[in-house]
Amino acid sequence: MAFEGLADRLQNTIQKIRGKGKVTESDVKEMMREVRLALLEADVNFKVVKEFVKKVSERSVGQEVMKSLTPGQQVIKVVKEELTELMGGEQSQIAVSKRPPTVIMMAGLQGAGKTTTTGKLANLLRKKYNRSPMLVAADIYRPAAIKQLETLGKQLNMPVFSLGDQVSPVEIVRQALEQAKENHNDYVLVDTAGRLHIDGELMNELKEIKDLANPDEIFLVVDSMTGQDAVNVAQSFNEQLEITGVILTKLDGDTRGGAALSIRSVTQKPIKFVGMGEKLDALEPFHPERMASRILGMGDMLTLIEKAQASVDEEKARELEKKMRTMSFTFDDFLDQLGQVRKMGPLEDIIKMLPGANRMKGLDNLQVDEKKIGHVEAIIKSMTKAEKENPEIINAGRKKRIARGSGTNVQEVNRLLKQFEEMKKMMKQMTNMQQKGKKKGFKF
Ligand code: GDP
Repeated sequence: MAFEGLADRLQNTIQKIRGKGKVTESDVKEMMREVRLALLEADVNFKVVKEFVKKVSERSVGQEVMKSLTPGQQVIKVVKEELTELMGGEQSQIAVSKRPPTVIMMAGLQGAGKTTTTGKLANLLRKKYNRSPMLVAADIYRPAAIKQLETLGKQLNMPVFSLGDQVSPVEIVRQALEQAKENHNDYVLVDTAGRLHIDGELMNELKEIKDLANPDEIFLVVDSMTGQDAVNVAQSFNEQLEITGVILTKLDGDTRGGAALSIRSVTQKPIKFVGMGEKLDALEPFHPERMASRILGMGDMLTLIEKAQASVDEEKARELEKKMRTMSFTFDDFLDQLGQVRKMGPLEDIIKMLPGANRMKGLDNLQVDEKKIGHVEAIIKSMTKAEKENPEIINAGRKKRIARGSGTNVQEVNRLLKQFEEMKKMMKQMTNMQQKGKKKGFKF
């Protein structure tokens, strides 16, 4: 989970000051000592840490905090605002050219995740913004790069322009742009060559492509797990190529988060997207404020709601609501629900977006056993239609058959039946409460 270490330490620190009715300078000093250590341990650039601590300290002993009625809360607000600012303030948008196609050049060192991210970004552009992108294979040096992009294109059912590895990248891009215009692709994503290290030859090639294509965006893809190295790479690329934004990959495995917190401050270029996994839909627009909120344990309800909206079928949700009200909720609906929630991503990640979830006992190191969820699905699928609609008819003999059919055992079948029963009871209570509430005019 991203930022885990930093989140833990910062949350412990702010916990101490939260309820204070009076905050003295020495309280702030002590807190800042811990914040400083937490940031350094998270591998944040030391100059950035120094500047951050200075700003928060100044604001925390200033009028806005000291005179307020809830100074402890105010200090936390200051930390959150400055953390947001550190990561870039407002969320930045992706360019749209007035004269399509919009050209996005993807740059980065080998292994950073450039080719995968090119596919992910194309996928996001189509899914979220309704665009029709074309991918261009201009990395002619890494033997498998062209093939990898072509495979991604097939998976996504998206055009990939390639002229093999014997034509120069500049020529490939030139012809690709013509083709995109002909085919009405409104975005062109160019996967450029990567190297193990930055060298002059690579930069010259990238500059040539830049001169020819006049890209609307130059995104640098860096691996967040490499911490300050990623920041240095970003700085060099920016100096030589003038990038427009950074895409930070592998944030899912980065417990420290130093790159995410330093890049903006060091390069003055925004983080536009973050990679949160290997799958093609694991790329998210970067929202500094939401990220700050997650780091400070205040949850990220907005992302959660967006994820739900993207994966939950509205029609089905309405239908479900009705079923809950009329108590005609069956095992088939349950299965459906399970499927919809799973589409949102790993359950552990979803739970962690709830405010305060990581401080709740038992939830902090919750491991959702995906295998068990698989068993639940198998059990329900082994039921007959009548059993799914009327679980009361499931007697001992039927239980045995279901257990055999699903490769589980009778205890597991029993457990699920009991859970389902309890869920229905809960729904009944909720429905009653809602109806009572409605009478009194409450809003739910
Ligand atoms: P390139 O050399 O920069 O083009 O790198 P690739 O696109 O081939 O990616 C290198 C590896 O990183 C692959 O195994 C990808 O699946 C993996 N990868 C890329 N982005 C992410 C991410 O956001 N999270 C995780 N966990 N893995 C990623």
